[in-house]
Amino acid sequence: MSHPIRVFKFGGASIKDAAAIKNVADILNQYKEESILIVVSAMGKMTNALEEVVEAHAKGDATAFDKLNKIKQQHYTTMGMLFDEKDDVFNLVNDTFVEIEWALEEEPHDSYDYMYDQIVSVGELVSSKIVAAYLNKQKMSTQWLDARDIILTDNIYREGWVQWPDTIERCNRIAEPMINKGGFVLTQGFIGSTSENFTTTLGREGSDYTAAIFSYCLDAKDMTIWKDVPGVLTADPRKFDNVSKLDRLSYKEAIEMTYYGAKVIHPKTIKPLQNKSIPLYVKSFIAPEGSGTYISDEVDDTYPPMVAVEDGQALLQISTRDFSFVAEHHISSLFNVIANVRLQVNMMQNSAISFSLCVNDIDDRADRFAAQIEKDFKVMIERDLELITVRHPLDNVLTNLRSGKIVLLEEKIKGRTVQMVVKDVPVIRRKINTREKE
Ligand code: ADP
Ligand code: ASP
Ligand code: MG
Repeated sequence: MSHPIRVFKFGGASIKDAAAIKNVADILNQYKEESILIVVSAMGKMTNALEEVVEAHAKGDATAFDKLNKIKQQHYTTMGMLFDEKDDVFNLVNDTFVEIEWALEEEPHDSYDYMYDQIVSVGELVSSKIVAAYLNKQKMSTQWLDARDIILTDNIYREGWVQWPDTIERCNRIAEPMINKGGFVLTQGFIGSTSENFTTTLGREGSDYTAAIFSYCLDAKDMTIWKDVPGVLTADPRKFDNVSKLDRLSYKEAIEMTYYGAKVIHPKTIKPLQNKSIPLYVKSFIAPEGSGTYISDEVDDTYPPMVAVEDGQALLQISTRDFSFVAEHHISSLFNVIANVRLQVNMMQNSAISFSLCVNDIDDRADRFAAQIEKDFKVMIERDLELITVRHPLDNVLTNLRSGKIVLLEEKIKGRTVQMVVKDVPVIRRKINTREKE
């Protein structure tokens, strides 16, 4: 009988350079008797660097080639530290980059999002080739799998929606037999393909989600995401002191926290796992022996206060021009426009003639929304805000969070969650007289 399948995901930080890749190989060496599907992201911050290539190319700027060359060079430096110069991996990686060079030689494509996915996906394609080759070199038999042969999406570039029935069928037909052969199977996070075989991406930071898609399709025994933190913490340690690790968490708590900005897990990750009761472990690749956080549905719901902060928020204050109520039919027409421009609404409040929305300020979506409803509504947009979500709040925590901030919108939901949209109190420059007495 075949072993139960486990899914591991290693993000950009865990494979950022040669030392990091060696560390991942050491972790995996402990698991080499097991059937594991491994999902990897692009190395380090390569996706950001590739986004710059796309931007330059879209503007017809020749620096796109220099930027791509720099990225190539960084990969070659890492490979130089892991492989002999004659290793096949150099050709494999080179061939992948050549495809992007061809794309850059052509005129920028009319669809920015299409072009973005064709270029940015190279990050995962090359990182996965490098890590798979290194594991093989370390005598851990690893088959490389192209995630685009499994994950079928619609044609919405940069935000591909998974077409589940086909994805499940392809996973059972292609990925499962590979895993049952023994050894590891290693694939890319973040990428998929349309039915016409064009590459799509699933949205930034989407590799956790890819691992959950595979876990669902393979009926995995469990899934582990390896991070640079000991597990899920009560808040982001980059923003807050005195955070503590949560040993256990329910799916519900995890989905609430991640939806509102706890960046440790991509918010779309939880649903596929919850739907098949697949437990999720969040563990540290820096201290892999640690217990991490265990996320499942058999967890009691008593928690300390937890804080998530989402930057890049815009507050849209919408009011009717003719003093009519923002009631039923207005609300439904507003929601139609929200859906059309794909605004992600994080918080809303309404009064008789006005309606406030806190949204993720992505591209020019808020402006397009305002333009489409301009005839009937006046819209004021305030940008560069933060949305703070506190689960299981205590008064002293809320007081601390409000200090130094102006609260523009606040709401308490069932006593369990407080959300506030805030901006910093402006620093007023005081004049002092430094001149000596005359
Ligand atoms: P990946 O390497 O998989 O891309 P990320 O960098 O996206 O991983 O996620 C890990 C980071 O998430 C941590 O370094 C931490 O700063 C941040 N983070 C935000 N909220 C939390 C939280 N509640 N618990 C732990 N880490 C958090
Ligand atoms: N490399 C992609 C990104 O940086 C996907 C991921 O890391 O999850 O957005
Ligand atoms: Mg990430």
